[in-house]
Amino acid sequence: MTDTLDPLHGGCLCGQVRYEARPSHRDGYYCHCRMCQLAFGNTRAAYFNLRKDEVRWLTLPRFYASSKIARRGFCDRCGTPLSFEFLDGERMDLSVGSLDEPSQFRPAEHFSIETRIDAWHADDGLPGQRLDSNQRIGGLWRAAYGDKVVPGLQAAREAATIDASPSPHTKAP
Ligand SMILES: [Zn+2]
Ligand SMILES: [Zn+2]
Repeated sequence: MTDTLDPLHGGCLCGQVRYEARPSHRDGYYCHCRMCQLAFGNTRAAYFNLRKDEVRWLTLPRFYASSKIARRGFCDRCGTPLSFEFLDGERMDLSVGSLDEPSQFRPAEHFSIETRIDAWHADDGLPGQRLDSNQRIGGLWRAAYGDKVVPGLQAAREAATIDASPSPHTKAP
């Protein structure tokens, strides 16, 4: 084992949902896509990325399908956004703000900068990537929605594939 970092803990505002996470780094990032802005009710989302098998839900969140290809975990009692993951893939994101000690992480980059809200963003010198230049994510969207899809909120809404209806707790991986 090369991972000498201590396990992290976090959870939602009301305390119903708790997790333990063992990421091998302390770099976070901002996502400025419209779906994350809405999912967080904020101008951007702060995440850290890790392997799905590095997360252990001590109590499970609820999940909803924000598109055909992804799900988002949240607390169904207080509403805290907790996680984002593509169904296809070994990695996922947890929200930095849900950590017991968010200050352990530093922002390292920006994602989906084409929908970044300039009035709410102070230039921090960190690198940024456009959503529409990410080949892997574009491929996931095209496989699910067709070759002409523009990845993002409009495509998911128009295809009526956002399923935020109440669903049973899903077994954690
Ligand atoms: Zn809660
Ligand atoms: Zn996003």
